[in-house]
Amino acid sequence: MQLPRLGLVMFTFGNVSAADKDLAVFAIKPSGVPYQKLTPAKMVIVDFEGNTVKGKLRPSSDTKTHAVLYKHWPAIGGISHTHSIYATAWAQSLRDIPIFGTTHADHNTVDIPCAPPMDDRMIQGDYEYQTGFQIIDCLTEKKLNYEEVEMILVGNHAPFSWGKTAEKAVYNSGVLESIAQMAWLTEQINPKAARLKEALIRKHYERKHGPDSYYGQ
Ligand SMILES: [Zn+2]
Repeated sequence: MQLPRLGLVMFTFGNVSAADKDLAVFAIKPSGVPYQKLTPAKMVIVDFEGNTVKGKLRPSSDTKTHAVLYKHWPAIGGISHTHSIYATAWAQSLRDIPIFGTTHADHNTVDIPCAPPMDDRMIQGDYEYQTGFQIIDCLTEKKLNYEEVEMILVGNHAPFSWGKTAEKAVYNSGVLESIAQMAWLTEQINPKAARLKEALIRKHYERKHGPDSYYGQ
């Protein structure tokens, strides 16, 4: 219900899930239900194969994508998917979002990856299931760790983000949208804007992460 409040989705776009690792299930938004009408009882409980185990409503059409990520990434506890405008525009442009400034570096040390579009065989097969592998394969190919890079653009589609909890996954969706908007404006103001230099990337990331972090209380 935070997604429309944060301006990240309209109507019934997008979905969020939260996993219980011990029970190997996750709760996900029901398909096509407006955010204002969501209640705990309407959430659908699904196993990591994508089978509904509890709930009367049909789960989100993207459920199999969530199931694949939970199955392969044991350290995550939440996933958020939006069609937020700026991040989706980068996804449609099939471009990684360059790391231009310290807002980006506070959260990631690399460009936000954009997974290449799926080939026709995968689209015609189990599309949502294959979207999960599209995400996993992109990180693997770019040698990125899902515990460090918690967001991605799915080419031609839109962003997915994740985290240790559903709250963190939604937070990451908001961060990604801000980074996407700032990067777009940066390129409008200066089409030749350079990527942030390595010393500033390291400094800002390490202020917030790792053993020597000193951001916050
Ligand atoms: Zn979508």
